[in-house]
Amino acid sequence: MRTEIDEESELFRETTRKWVDKQFPKAWCRELESKEHEFPQAFWDKLVDYGAHGIGIPEEYGGLGGTITMQSIFAREIARTAGGLSWIWGVTSFSGSKAIGYCGTEDQKQKYLPLIAEGKLKTAMSYTEPGGGTDLLGGMKTSAQKTDGGWRLNGEKIWSTLASNADYLLVLARSDREVAKRSDGISMFFVPAASEGITMTELPKLGMRAASSCSVYLEDVFVPDELLLGEEGKGWYTSLKPLNNERLVNAATCLGMLDGVLEDAVEHLKTRNAFGGPIGRFQALQHYVADIAMWQKQGELMVHHTARLQEEGAPNAVESAMVKTLCSEYASKAADLGISILGGMGYSAETDMQRYWRDSRLLRIGPVSNEMARNQIAESFGLPRSY
Ligand SMILES: Cc1cc2nc3c(=O)[nH]c(=O)nc-3n(C[C@H](O)[C@H](O)[C@H](O)COP(=O)(O)OP(=O)(O)OC[C@H]3O[C@@H](n4cnc5c(N)ncnc54)[C@H](O)[C@@H]3O)c2cc1C
Repeated sequence: MRTEIDEESELFRETTRKWVDKQFPKAWCRELESKEHEFPQAFWDKLVDYGAHGIGIPEEYGGLGGTITMQSIFAREIARTAGGLSWIWGVTSFSGSKAIGYCGTEDQKQKYLPLIAEGKLKTAMSYTEPGGGTDLLGGMKTSAQKTDGGWRLNGEKIWSTLASNADYLLVLARSDREVAKRSDGISMFFVPAASEGITMTELPKLGMRAASSCSVYLEDVFVPDELLLGEEGKGWYTSLKPLNNERLVNAATCLGMLDGVLEDAVEHLKTRNAFGGPIGRFQALQHYVADIAMWQKQGELMVHHTARLQEEGAPNAVESAMVKTLCSEYASKAADLGISILGGMGYSAETDMQRYWRDSRLLRIGPVSNEMARNQIAESFGLPRSY
């Protein structure tokens, strides 16, 4: 298990941390997050200035280059102050640059990656349907029918985060129903969000309120052949590589939230007084800190290890499921303890614990639920598939 990061990555982490502290103070992120369905353009613009959308995109396609380790370091560092708002960056990173980078043709890479790197093209992921997110294949009703020069898409997606701000949607649809295995006959499309026939509604939700999650309705939407991503009918297999990357980025995001919880908790323990001195002298509260610190260290080792596997192109489906499950549960438990440490102020909308708590809770449900991730991990030990 290789868990160390090299000198270049460490330098990148230090530089990013300083930049995040200056550009994304927690109070500002808290205010942005509270504005439901209001895309934080100023946040996006700062990411553009830093070149953040080019992280992980090869230089030949206009990106900054950089490894998956750097992508996960960046996800962690911005989530430390921005919490779930960091998905403003993350969604295009895993659904745009990674999906096109992994699955696109040379023409698609040349056309779209430079635009993504420059921050001129936003993407969103429209996989989940109202009929089921865990049983994605069983619940999938969206169809893609071949027509002259392209495809006609019909169906409904749910929870497509940032779809209402995106230029392109990554859509999975069933293109062939006559298949032996239900994972066959699915195709992946890169669909302009402004296409005729697409309508959306923004859904109210518990956390990450500024990053709208949407129902997306597709009614006879024409998608030209050149916007098929990967091989026709093999979209499910094509989607797996970016999906594992999405799990890793989400794990790193959770780790960043845990970092934010820990620093706020320690600060409060040193400055809040009760019974004649700082509450940080109480052993019960010190144990909370020790637990959070142990989760932080475990999460960090696992994130670096999984990033390394993805960089090397080694099998990583199980590790990606593990790291996402561990980090989301650690972040969620840490934020809960953080609320206890801050007492009433932990529940206040004027501090960040409640934001970390709301945002990290989501990542136990999606992008894959932790129950389903555990099924996958258990199955890798030769146990029968439970579903
Ligand atoms: C805020 C938010 C943002 C999202 N963003 C996106 C996005 O950008 N793009 C996108 O495509 N999707 C997105 N999703 C969808 C997300 O991936 C799904 O919600 C998730 O996969 C769970 O699916 P579901 O909600 O349909 O729950 P269900 O599949 O109905 O599951 C309900 C419960 O049953 C459990 N369950 C189901 N099957 C099994 C089984 N075999 N074994 C054990 N337990 C099982 C689940 O773990 C869960 O606890 C988002 C969701 C939310 C809430």
